[in-house]
Amino acid sequence: MRLAGKRALVTGGASGIGAATAERFAAEGATVAIADLNGAGADKHAEAIRAQGGTAVGLAADVGDVESVAAMVDRAWEALEGLDIIVNNAAIPTMGTVETLAADEWDRVLDIDLSSIYRTCRAVWPRFVAAGGGTILNTASVAGIIGMAGQHGYSAAKAGVVMLTKCMALDGAATGIRVNCVCPGFVETPMVLTYFDAQDDPEASRAAVNAEIAAAFLYLASDEARWVTGTALVIDGGLTAGL
Ligand code: NAD
Repeated sequence: MRLAGKRALVTGGASGIGAATAERFAAEGATVAIADLNGAGADKHAEAIRAQGGTAVGLAADVGDVESVAAMVDRAWEALEGLDIIVNNAAIPTMGTVETLAADEWDRVLDIDLSSIYRTCRAVWPRFVAAGGGTILNTASVAGIIGMAGQHGYSAAKAGVVMLTKCMALDGAATGIRVNCVCPGFVETPMVLTYFDAQDDPEASRAAVNAEIAAAFLYLASDEARWVTGTALVIDGGLTAGL
């Protein structure tokens, strides 16, 4: 019960890493609000967590929309009677080169994958200051620390997430707001796909990777990480070890 009594909002919590994180946080005693563009998926996942004995609510929200973000934070704050932790995890992928990625796709990936975090943090920051602190966790990517062909929009956004994390950590230090990010490395390169395909149960192996990312978020969210802020924790099975 490493998060007993804590209240957490997880964006993009209906699927993948966000879903695994919401589930793990609830299993560790947190009350969880799961926000997602897929509101039905968020509700369904909250229901599954409640069926396992956890406490969770689902919220429909679009992190690309300033009013929706404000409403998401208001509703989560009201439903959970406050918030201690926010996991800014929602994001979209994009592929394309400078030649092929359309200008509006560039704007969109920067908006959803980077500006949305700024938006959410602005909505919650004064409340964390008034409450005497809080924990902000962001999902970045190894794509934010190494260049990847055909991924310049996504990589630029994720590199921005790493730097936004560090700057906000410095801004928040005096008021007890910790800000950290995790850089997952599960990138569907041919090598990684070959690894998963070789497993007896490829889907279970993918879920296990999501659970490892959730475990990293759990550590950073917990009081065990009280002295940790401004870090970018890489969880990539050694993908970037040779850098
Ligand atoms: P996923 O597609 O399984 O989940 C993303 C969730 O975000 C979905 O439920 C989706 O509905 C939601 N979402 C998308 N746009 C939204 C919006 N505008 N408002 C609210 N919700 C929105 O993806 P995932 O693989 O679990 O990725 C989660 C995070 O991890 C992302 O930030 C992603 O960039 C990052 N990441 C993933 C990997 C990977 O290999 N899966 C690697 C590195 C980083």
